[in-house]
Amino acid sequence: MSRNAHAEQFAPPPDTLDGRMNLVGLTRGELGEVVAGLGEPAFRARQLWSWIYHHGARDFAAMTSLGKALRTQLAERFRVDRPEIARAQTSSDGTRKWLLRSPDGQEVESVHIPEAARGTLCVSSQVGCTLTCRFCHTGTQRLVRNLSAAEIVGQLMVARDELGDWPSPKADRQLTNLVLMGMGEPLYNYDNVAKAIRIVMDGEGIAISKRKITLSTAGVVPAMRRCGEELGVNLAVSLHAVSDELRDEIVPLNRKYPLAELLAACRDYPGVHNARRITFEYVLLKGVNDSLADAREMARLLKGIPAKVNLIPFNPWPGAPFECPSADVIERFAQILFEGGLTAPVRQPRGQDIMAACGQLKSASERLKKAAREVGVAGAADRQ
Ligand code: SAH
Repeated sequence: MSRNAHAEQFAPPPDTLDGRMNLVGLTRGELGEVVAGLGEPAFRARQLWSWIYHHGARDFAAMTSLGKALRTQLAERFRVDRPEIARAQTSSDGTRKWLLRSPDGQEVESVHIPEAARGTLCVSSQVGCTLTCRFCHTGTQRLVRNLSAAEIVGQLMVARDELGDWPSPKADRQLTNLVLMGMGEPLYNYDNVAKAIRIVMDGEGIAISKRKITLSTAGVVPAMRRCGEELGVNLAVSLHAVSDELRDEIVPLNRKYPLAELLAACRDYPGVHNARRITFEYVLLKGVNDSLADAREMARLLKGIPAKVNLIPFNPWPGAPFECPSADVIERFAQILFEGGLTAPVRQPRGQDIMAACGQLKSASERLKKAAREVGVAGAADRQ
């Protein structure tokens, strides 16, 4: 399917509820049109932008610089809504996870990972995924639809609400970094993702710079250059295998864009150099892609690409056909990459007690709902 046909088929529903349009997710230009439509001067758009994205205001009544009549008028026709929190969990290591529900009932997850000097929010870009990577739990959920820009930005707004990160602080932020590494393939929802990233990067709002944003792709080669040129964000590539034979199996997108094409697109990624490397993610699967020969081949393949490797111990989920290798095997794998000139930190699993790996909370919620339906107590799962 072409990218445009995909965008059309999986488009999010219009963001109007009881006839009122959500202002979250509009670009500055679109907000300007709303303001002009109300017969208000252009500077009102800037004020609104600041209330929404700098102060995190959730209703018009709080926007005190706007004048009472305008606030009433806005409230009659518009909303400043985020997705609803269907479930929230906090891990013993401080990782927080939210299951978010949109007005049409669709649910996605975001995860906040606090570290000493930064806090990273991992957001979703689609409800479900079409890629069916064998080790990924989201791959077992069929794609329902793309998320809108409002739903992507909304994930940051909810996180900021919950973390007490408004108004957009200059220092001591809880949310400093953004990764598009949650459910879905962001480059198959390029237009909404790009719109959301532009809103997030705006210096008078959420203000997270492109250097602190990383987009993770399984390798949608034709969209990679565009992403680098238009957005300039960091790129992470889900590699997971060093031969086409294995990658065809575990990352089926490889059949469309094989390794040679993917690595060429990485070499050509705009703005990539030694101080700004591409991250290659590699989920270690016991007995599948964790041999020393695999490590050597990876070092050879990535030669000449400014790269760092993120080794991710496989995060198991119920019924998964893979296991995680032992710590020794992982250590040796990392050592060989290091000898081959690559930095390869092993990513510490976070939030394991709250199933923070991709797609797991949503599936748990669906299982609970199904169980509730089966015993005839509709809605019980929502109260768990
Ligand atoms: N579609 C994009 C973004 C979503 S997946 C992509 O493929 O990059 C983001 C990352 O989640 C993938 O790189 C993969 O490494 C990781 N992932 C998915 N399932 C996992 C699991 N069970 N254990 C460890 N990492 C997993």
